Amino acid sequence: MAIEKVGIVGAGQMGNGIAHVFALAGYDVLLNDISEDALTKALTTVTKNLDRQVSRGKISEDEKNTALKKITTTTKLSDLGPTDLVIEAATERETVKQAIFEDLLPHLKPTTILTSNTSSISITRLASRTDRPEKFMGFHFMNPVPVMQLVELIRGIATDQETYKALHEVVEKLGKTAASAEDFPAFIVNRILMPMINEAVYTLYEGVGNVRSIDESMKLGANHPMGPLELADFIGLDTCLAIMNVLHDGLADTKYRPCPLLTKYVEAGWLGRKTGRGFYDYRGEEPVPTR
Ligand code: NAD
Repeated sequence: MAIEKVGIVGAGQMGNGIAHVFALAGYDVLLNDISEDALTKALTTVTKNLDRQVSRGKISEDEKNTALKKITTTTKLSDLGPTDLVIEAATERETVKQAIFEDLLPHLKPTTILTSNTSSISITRLASRTDRPEKFMGFHFMNPVPVMQLVELIRGIATDQETYKALHEVVEKLGKTAASAEDFPAFIVNRILMPMINEAVYTLYEGVGNVRSIDESMKLGANHPMGPLELADFIGLDTCLAIMNVLHDGLADTKYRPCPLLTKYVEAGWLGRKTGRGFYDYRGEEPVPTR
């Protein structure tokens, strides 16, 4: 079945990027969020990012305008009824995601493919609570979506080959590259990346280095394009903590215990770039380390 209309639930950092790349690839996009403000911000961000692509000669002004016309926003989940593919990209909390699928299901066609952009939560478990576990998959985009090449495709235990093939074709149409991962906590990218970020926070917590020395060390010493703490701020510290908790609970190994300092930042509401403060303070002209 051809995929033409795509519903995206959650218009945060990931949702707006996913809307951007699908609209540019010619799909009709319905972008949903519980917050009207998040939808307005998402459209502003998509416009700004498309403008940047125009100024760099990557797309034409016409392509930008066509893409923008392809995106419709709504706070009503029921508006996603006619979509062929749903991508859930809401907050990284299992109860939130479950409630979204529960509310959405009565409105969908039986053929609609369901996916989650979750960074770590079990696809099999999310799928098992829907009426179509064979049409459910993990569809994990990387941040920032318009820039990053990889999409992880995660099959739940029941996912059928037809669904996998359909999503593989979508990834190709987006001009991105798919990597298959098995459905175990945090899949491939975050299974490796998050323990490194968590270890960087332990390094800070134990006073081995400060924010700047840790980031500089990994940039200049390991050739990472961003330091681990800068990257954590970029991802969102709440998301990082949620992923560490999924690894810790799901694999029952103490090597995944979240650093208490990461918990403290999240409890303070210092979630990184999206709230203006995390391991760096972004409220001035230049980011200033907070430790
Ligand atoms: P975010 O905090 O920027 O955005 C989450 C959005 O979901 C918010 O706008 C919020 O209003 C909305 N939301 C919450 N409950 C909702 C509901 N019931 N219905 C509709 N919208 C709802 O988070 P994000 O960074 O965009 O992450 C979203 C998802 O993508 C998470 O599952 C996360 O693990 C995953 N992800 C994040 C990254 C990253 O680098 N941040 C990378 C890959 C995947």
